[in-house]
Amino acid sequence: MSDYLDRLNPEQRDAVQSLDGPLLVLAGAGTGKTRVLTTRFAHILLSGRASPHQVLAVTFTNKAAREMRERVGAILGHPAEGLWLGTFHALCARMLRRHASELGLTSSFTILDTDDQLRLLKQVMEAHRIDAKRWPAPGLMGAIQRWKDRGLTPDRITPAEDTEFGGGAARAIYADYQARLITLNACDFGDLLLHVTELLRTRPEILDGYHRLFRYILVDEYQDTNVVQYLWLRLLAQRADAPANICCVGDDDQSIYSWRGAEVENILRFEADFPGAKVVRLERNYRSTAPILAAAAGLIAHNDARLGKTLRPGRNDASGEKLTVAALWDSDEEARFVGERIENLRRDDHRLSEIAILVRAGFQTRAFEERLITLNIPYRVIGGLRFYERAEIRDALAYLRCVVQPADDLAFERIVNVPRRGVGDAALASLHAHARARSIPLISAAAEMIDSGGVKGRVRDNLRALITLFAECRDDLDRGVLGHVAVVERLLDESGYTAMWKADKSPDAPGRLDNLSELTRAIAEFETLAGFLEHVSLVMDNDESAGDDKVNLMTLHGAKGLEFDSVFLPGWEEGLFPSQRSLDEGGNKALEEERRLAYVGITRARRRAILSHAANRRIYANWQSSIPSRFLEEIPSEHVEQTGSAAFAREQVRNAPPVFGSPFGLTARRPKTIEAWEQPARPARSSAIAVGARVFHQKFGYGTVTSAEDGRLDVTFEKAGSKRVMDNYVEMV
Ligand code: ATP
Ligand code: MG
Repeated sequence: MSDYLDRLNPEQRDAVQSLDGPLLVLAGAGTGKTRVLTTRFAHILLSGRASPHQVLAVTFTNKAAREMRERVGAILGHPAEGLWLGTFHALCARMLRRHASELGLTSSFTILDTDDQLRLLKQVMEAHRIDAKRWPAPGLMGAIQRWKDRGLTPDRITPAEDTEFGGGAARAIYADYQARLITLNACDFGDLLLHVTELLRTRPEILDGYHRLFRYILVDEYQDTNVVQYLWLRLLAQRADAPANICCVGDDDQSIYSWRGAEVENILRFEADFPGAKVVRLERNYRSTAPILAAAAGLIAHNDARLGKTLRPGRNDASGEKLTVAALWDSDEEARFVGERIENLRRDDHRLSEIAILVRAGFQTRAFEERLITLNIPYRVIGGLRFYERAEIRDALAYLRCVVQPADDLAFERIVNVPRRGVGDAALASLHAHARARSIPLISAAAEMIDSGGVKGRVRDNLRALITLFAECRDDLDRGVLGHVAVVERLLDESGYTAMWKADKSPDAPGRLDNLSELTRAIAEFETLAGFLEHVSLVMDNDESAGDDKVNLMTLHGAKGLEFDSVFLPGWEEGLFPSQRSLDEGGNKALEEERRLAYVGITRARRRAILSHAANRRIYANWQSSIPSRFLEEIPSEHVEQTGSAAFAREQVRNAPPVFGSPFGLTARRPKTIEAWEQPARPARSSAIAVGARVFHQKFGYGTVTSAEDGRLDVTFEKAGSKRVMDNYVEMV
């Protein structure tokens, strides 16, 4: 009966069995926090303390929710239904549907996507006569979201909190936006928590109902809760009549969502808000081998802002592979290296679903996706779309198709009004009618209607510019005036497509721009645009029917709470990981969050972690050299095995004739672009550059050295902000 308790160590068992009163489990990665939570759920049911729907359980991932549901179902002997189990948003949506009428909504209210949110906000701004050029709507959308994350309804925003936006109009616009949502019987994502929390705050009888309903509250990944989530939890847990039966598990070293308003301080607040809270610490890690653990611990020790925890290997194997750190020549070689290693694992009968590639930025998946497709290795992209399915990539491809295949009506239709050119449904319908009547493609129909006066004014001018651009690009390609990569850049620039994303201030816009430059990198690998487009249609055709045994590709953020036998961690380079944004921000805060992300990455691995960095990355058609991430140096070297060809290949290039081979057994063809790449000559230097020196860098301009070690400099550049550069790339001035 209680054999499930035998599968726990004494501390875990204590956490599971301490059912009365508040409990905080504070412990490092892989120590069984999620297992404790799931077992606690089971224990509550089996000890008869509550029935399944009297437990409120918040998980961070759907996977964790599924596992918990399966576990509870197994205990009950039938599938568990009606459980209050899921993410914060899912749980709040359910509550909100129950009480929708209290807020003036009906239970069938819609949850708006970001496009609709923005459109609505723009309408409200117009009504307030705000100049959208001066005050772009996405900026205010972000501010409203942050207020919502902090549980601030419009009436709670003090004049001092009102942003500079629109000369202090933000609060009023926010209030109108909320009112408009209600009239539309809609709410946005942030409203789910905000509305429910507000309801619990102002309607004691509703709160009381939930107090009677929920006997136990369980929360996973507690370190990443934001203020409004915390308020929601506290309202539900704190009660006059009984102790708060809330159990939160978390790890301050894995707090990686502060950019979404998460506050690791919620951990400290817990003990203050729930007096008498019991704190359990777990120290045995059951997930990873000793070298992986030691490496992760050595890395995270470089953070100052920590509560401090111990991690000991829980399994009896002091053995285990060291971490691999591969130094590779360029991003293509990195993808080949990862592909090769995965093939080897597959050959040795490893399951593909036990392999993950975790990237810092979404655009990085492209190179690996293509490699896996070439090798015929099935994969899935978790928490996001496959590269060529992303909206901005589909748009860009549609532009290219309009140039290469002018009869491609679907492509034309997709982008004719992206960015907005005033070509609405009516204009499009008349284009279609004309095209049908004359049996010609839409583009030709547009040209004819421009000439005949069938379209007028702004629409005519915009359409003419677009069609002319297509024709000129086609001509550039045919006559070989511009290289195909340059044509693509021209096309996306002059059509206003890139500018559209540059003007977009929403949080995902930078990632989309990164994806677009990754697209041009992909195109540069092909001789012709048509060749590239054919490649894409083949890649897109690669269906997903391969069953469940697939390699997992995802961002580091998406990997939280998960574990895999083998984890690949590519792109550990300054400016990529840690991200350039975190470096630009300066100070330690952003950098420490990046380091926690690195810690999350390494601790996903059970048996092997393979880190890599490329010495060169292509930025459009040019090569830029990059230097290894500082995080690599911070991993104690005794746990690391170095491999890779970067240094080796560099010598080869210098001492032509080049033979490109690599120590890990890749008979890689030499990247064709290397010829075009010139290793900057290392200038003779009489004295080392010291802290405080003023230097000049080709790309970043003038700056002052803030630290210097082993040929690496941290420099605060006057224009470009803080960067880490190699000393042979700067000159003392
Ligand atoms: P993270 O911080 O990454 O979310 P976690 O603390 O939630 O990690 P779990 O995912 O619960 O850790 O556990 C890590 C692994 O260790 C899982 O595979 C789990 O099944 C296993 N495990 C946990 N506790 C024990 C134990 N007492 N004996 C054996 N294996 C255990
Ligand atoms: Mg967990």
